[in-house]
Amino acid sequence: MQDVTEKDFELIERASETIKKNYDSIKYNHTVAVAVRCKNGKIYTGVNVHSLHGACAEVIAIGSAITHGERDFECIVAVRGESGKEILPPCGNCRQILLDYMPDCEVIINTKNQLKKIGVRELVPFAYSVAD
Ligand SMILES: [Zn+2]
Repeated sequence: MQDVTEKDFELIERASETIKKNYDSIKYNHTVAVAVRCKNGKIYTGVNVHSLHGACAEVIAIGSAITHGERDFECIVAVRGESGKEILPPCGNCRQILLDYMPDCEVIINTKNQLKKIGVRELVPFAYSVAD
């Protein structure tokens, strides 16, 4: 695990701003936002889309980045709640998606009330891989 940097705090702030702008706990359950930073420095954000088969904010942010032609990702973070202050780890499905689309990306997590970065591959030990 690595320490978070000034750039990572900016990424967290972008995710927090995104959920603050879109927070809706009643009608659409927009409660989580993600910010993903590409190696070229561009940042894409997204909020979860709730439905019977809704999508996590990771999927929305990654999908937006890919739609804009991005393929090289550096760091991703998810935040939850109206204030956007709670850092969330990715769910199991998102861990697989991160592994498929950005295996060399780092993920900001909160471990023992300390923010750290962990590699996607470390989040998915013994992973299924379509490439094998
Ligand atoms: Zn997820």
